[in-house]
Amino acid sequence: MASTSTPSGSDAGGAIAGGDAGGAIASGTGTTTAAGGSAVRIAANAGRGEVIAVDVGGTSMKCAIVGPDGVPRTLFRRPTGREHGPDAVVAALLDVAAGLAADCEDTPVAAGIVVPGFVDEQAGIARYSANIGWRDVPLRALLRDRLGLPIALGHDVRAGGLAEARAGNHGDALFVPLGTGVAAAHVVDGIAIAGAHGIAGELGHIIVRPGGPACGCGRRGCLEAIIGAPAVARAYSALTGHDLPVAEIATRAATGDPDAATVWTGLIDALADGLLTAIALRDPEVIILGGGLAESGDTLFIPLRATLATRNGPLPLPPLLPALLGENAGVLGAAHLARDLRDRTV
Ligand SMILES: [Zn+2]
Repeated sequence: MASTSTPSGSDAGGAIAGGDAGGAIASGTGTTTAAGGSAVRIAANAGRGEVIAVDVGGTSMKCAIVGPDGVPRTLFRRPTGREHGPDAVVAALLDVAAGLAADCEDTPVAAGIVVPGFVDEQAGIARYSANIGWRDVPLRALLRDRLGLPIALGHDVRAGGLAEARAGNHGDALFVPLGTGVAAAHVVDGIAIAGAHGIAGELGHIIVRPGGPACGCGRRGCLEAIIGAPAVARAYSALTGHDLPVAEIATRAATGDPDAATVWTGLIDALADGLLTAIALRDPEVIILGGGLAESGDTLFIPLRATLATRNGPLPLPPLLPALLGENAGVLGAAHLARDLRDRTV
């Protein structure tokens, strides 16, 4: 089972796009736990302490076996199969998790599963996902029954933020993946916080242009309706009649295409307004930008830093950093959740 997929391609979930695992996953996280702790619970597995991790996306499930050093020993993806309906996705998830557990060198100590949408992490229930179409699925109980392991159920973007923050050794961070959608994860004191109702981080639905373009949420002028990849492509098409992917628009903006530059400037302005709102509310230590848009590098970061500095006046600005883990942030975050759970239960 562990050899049936490839690490290439992009995730339709949109939250964490672009970037290949490549060397990024090799970075250790510094969160490996004391061997003595795991030995109490898993005496037969002393020195191993593997966890299994799955990030369920709209198109693919990213799957990993992660060692106690935080480095994946197996990393692959398989189709989510959402076209077969939510029950089939749940069945596929249970199967792939069981396959991962069987492929571990010894019995894994825990499993971390992260999913999109609205997740009740405390209750262990995937409440809702428009992308996958499920509602109130008791995933933690289903997985626990199937695997016989402690299960951590989390949210894909929050888990990605946790992994990015730990990879950069930041105890406090705002992680903002910029792709088809726009989201955020608040990492505070080394933990990705969910909020009182499990919906913290909806940065994409901050209204930055009142009366602006219609958003999928039903409102107008949301940040996502302006800087989400489809919105950027639409803006360029409206100006030029040409359909281009966002990466190409970024390249053209950087090389003197005036129409691309106009669209790009509008994107930077709107993103700066959204981030300034987030900064005013949270004052994070750092802001980590990921997703497909962040792949444009200096074309994004240099004007964005300048715009933020101009608009924020004398107030301090957090450093703006590129994400380190690419599209594997979510699955690596799932592994963190599993290890954190193991640490709490030994
Ligand atoms: Zn919206």
